[in-house]
Amino acid sequence: MSKTRLRIAGGVVYDPANDGGADGGIRDVCIEDGRIVAELPRDAPKLDARGMVVMAGGVDIHSHIAGSSVNQGRRLLPEEHAADPAPAPPLADPDAIPRSGTGGTIPTTFTTGYRYAALGYTTAMEAAVAPLAARQAHAELDDTPIIDAGLFTLLGNDDYLLRQIAAGEAARARDYAAWVLSAAGGYAIKIVNPGGVERWKAGGRNVTGLDDAVGSGAVTPRRILETLADAANALELPHPVHIHCNNLGQAGNATTTLETMRALAGRRAHFTHLQFHSYGGERGKSWKSAAKEVIEHVNAHPEVSVDVGQVMFGPATTLTADAPVEYLLHASSGRRWVNVDVELETGCGIVPYSYKEQAAVASLQWAVGLELFLLAKDPWRVVLSTDHPNGGSFLSYPELIRLLMDRSHRDECLKRVNQKLVAGSALADGLAREYTLSEIATVTRAAPARLLGLKHKGHLGVGADADVTVYANDADRAKMFSTPRHVIKGGVLVVEEGQLRRAPTGRRLRVQPGYDRAVTRDLKRWFDGYACVSFENYPAAELGE
Ligand SMILES: [Zn+2]
Repeated sequence: MSKTRLRIAGGVVYDPANDGGADGGIRDVCIEDGRIVAELPRDAPKLDARGMVVMAGGVDIHSHIAGSSVNQGRRLLPEEHAADPAPAPPLADPDAIPRSGTGGTIPTTFTTGYRYAALGYTTAMEAAVAPLAARQAHAELDDTPIIDAGLFTLLGNDDYLLRQIAAGEAARARDYAAWVLSAAGGYAIKIVNPGGVERWKAGGRNVTGLDDAVGSGAVTPRRILETLADAANALELPHPVHIHCNNLGQAGNATTTLETMRALAGRRAHFTHLQFHSYGGERGKSWKSAAKEVIEHVNAHPEVSVDVGQVMFGPATTLTADAPVEYLLHASSGRRWVNVDVELETGCGIVPYSYKEQAAVASLQWAVGLELFLLAKDPWRVVLSTDHPNGGSFLSYPELIRLLMDRSHRDECLKRVNQKLVAGSALADGLAREYTLSEIATVTRAAPARLLGLKHKGHLGVGADADVTVYANDADRAKMFSTPRHVIKGGVLVVEEGQLRRAPTGRRLRVQPGYDRAVTRDLKRWFDGYACVSFENYPAAELGE
């Protein structure tokens, strides 16, 4: 087979993993057979990138794009389908069948792949998949073109794990975690409201703190967090536990967030959508920003990484395994909702939502996210997300980038929002910081790739996957980042002159950690006793291949 080659010539290259965060130097980026190479023959095909900005393809560390909860969300939003038809793109690839679809906050599978790629993103992580529903999530990712994708596997409210914790069986809990990751074809362990979902499903109240008992007094959110953080680190997973803390969205929850970080002190852990967990004030009484206290802790603890989960004004769909919080949102907003119990494993709640500038809490949430970004000392540990579609669609990333890069624009936006709860925040007091292009390259590709342990992603060094995005260097950063001129995925030119032209199949990212096979005998007994599927029929992915 002939080698596919491309020289991206003369662009200003931002590659913080390899250039130490330099301001961008002019150099060629050479591609051969889907990888970055040091040089190419002079007659190799050339893409003229003079005057343009070149970065690795974007990497989304936390997004909701596939699986049963996402699909329930699609079902809940018929008006979105009519409002945002997505015609089939004009593909030039004779092997690809162009697909139409619909957009909105939860686009259809094909449209999700096309729109991510057209935004310059080439990798995305689906952040919450119940193992029991992994089969459907894989099927949907099979229909999501272009992007490489992995699934985070939900653990921490599952009956088998909680039994092991109650019995003090940490080693068996670890073996089980390894087995279930393989069985679900997962990439990382995701914990959502540890213990809280299980307790709420059992007819009780959600937990409110780290030491509330979950069934047995030996099982608490703290024990669940410790057990799974230790398991992920002992299994040497490429990404540590990915934690959605207790008390999401509640005034005063920063106390719980900081307690959780302290509980895991010294252990590698990733805290997701930190914005939703950084509120001061008192539950049911008052709200204020606690972004400063939370980010100062993150700044001082190198074992901690986070993604922000920025809220953007406009439509969103809140969608989470944290069913009790969705019940509260449904009850307080009067909006329609869906609740699903995933039998022995987890829950799910969905409420379509809209963040409005006139609303006091939404304005506070918007400000808290920006404070986290602007007060973060290390862009390698505080990365960009909107928790798509919870805080806003991934299509709002370009506007978020503009907010980070352009203080005068940010200050104009700040004047328009409801001031009631924002007054007195660090943002209202004036934060002068403006992100550089190199910092944007860090928080949108280099750092998420590194935090995920994806060695071939997020950078343009020799041997990296040839995932490259070429932007016109426009002073309007929202415009620049919303319509890249060229996008290359695995060496294939998928976006040419701003048009999606090819749609190769993306790869699945997954792990298969080793474990003591003895756990499967015990698991089989448990499946026979309690589960609605047989042990043999449960795995969605081949084990040990
Ligand atoms: Zn999420």
